[in-house]
Amino acid sequence: MPDRLFPELNMPDFPRNAGLVDAVRRDLTKRLLGLGAGAALAATFGPTAFAAPSRGPQVPDVAPTKLSEHLYIIYARGGFPSRENQGFFANIALVLTKKGVVVFDSGTSVQIGEMAIRQIKRLTDKPVIAVINSHFHGDHWLGNQAFREAWPDVPLYAHPDCVTAIRKAVGEQWLHQMMGATEGAIEGTRVVGPDTPINGGHVFDMGDVTLKVHYYGQAHTPVDLMLEIVQDKIVLVGDAAMDHRIANMEDGSFNGTFKVYDELEAHIPGALWVPGHGHPDRDMLKKNRELLMGIYDNAAKAVEAGGSIEDARAAVLKDPRVTKYARDTVGFDESIGKFISIAYLEAEQKAF
Ligand SMILES: [Zn+2]
Repeated sequence: MPDRLFPELNMPDFPRNAGLVDAVRRDLTKRLLGLGAGAALAATFGPTAFAAPSRGPQVPDVAPTKLSEHLYIIYARGGFPSRENQGFFANIALVLTKKGVVVFDSGTSVQIGEMAIRQIKRLTDKPVIAVINSHFHGDHWLGNQAFREAWPDVPLYAHPDCVTAIRKAVGEQWLHQMMGATEGAIEGTRVVGPDTPINGGHVFDMGDVTLKVHYYGQAHTPVDLMLEIVQDKIVLVGDAAMDHRIANMEDGSFNGTFKVYDELEAHIPGALWVPGHGHPDRDMLKKNRELLMGIYDNAAKAVEAGGSIEDARAAVLKDPRVTKYARDTVGFDESIGKFISIAYLEAEQKAF
């Protein structure tokens, strides 16, 4: 587990002056997680070096969308980080309660966090009393800085191993990657990692509404926290499931994901699942499971039969569980090969 959590510790440091773009480009193909679009991202970098301003520009307001009695979502402005969207590619959820506002995932930059705070102030006079980070990918916590600046005592919650990972090396690495991917648009952002560990089963009693933390092991990462808004029958799933894209398994596990989906469905049947990327869907777990099983089952069969990754690939691309989603899955062609390799390696490990 530690090796999966801290793969960065074994990686050489980035060159500090020269070759930033190259370093980021090289690194993104390995590590831009939850996305599976290293190639698409690399293509967004021009050949010229960028000159970052000392502080990136303000992020334009995105009005929150009301989903239920207590929940608002500030929807991201794209699927992947770019200079144009200033890195705003993961949703921010706001839970308005009697006691104050709970923020689930804080965006990729101080500027995005500040934009979210402007929206919150239009919705309520109450303070933000908790920020929860679903996992350690930078698009879900690099906005913490803005909340800490506005409310110095606000606890920043995450899974204990997420707190540690960001403190060790993952935090700086994600800041570096997102600086590159946005060509400096997030300049001014610092690593303000989560500092208050929580685990599955934690309950926040907010008076008018109960918030329950769920954790069932490794899915998209080893630290995926999900938040149930009990009275609204809604679950914020972070990146454990996605809308019209494949959740990257580079830090995750296919088998772990299936287990997490089973647990969620057993504990909260009929909930509305709200992802970190894309829009809510009651059938999201069902759809994600089918597609991911279409990948994993064929990889496992190939491993069992002594076949190669290429054999697995051929079977996956013919499987109706996969083909039915291929056309509507963002980045499918660019990323499917990588996901098949990851599935194959996981199946090999499991068989070993
Ligand atoms: Zn992620």
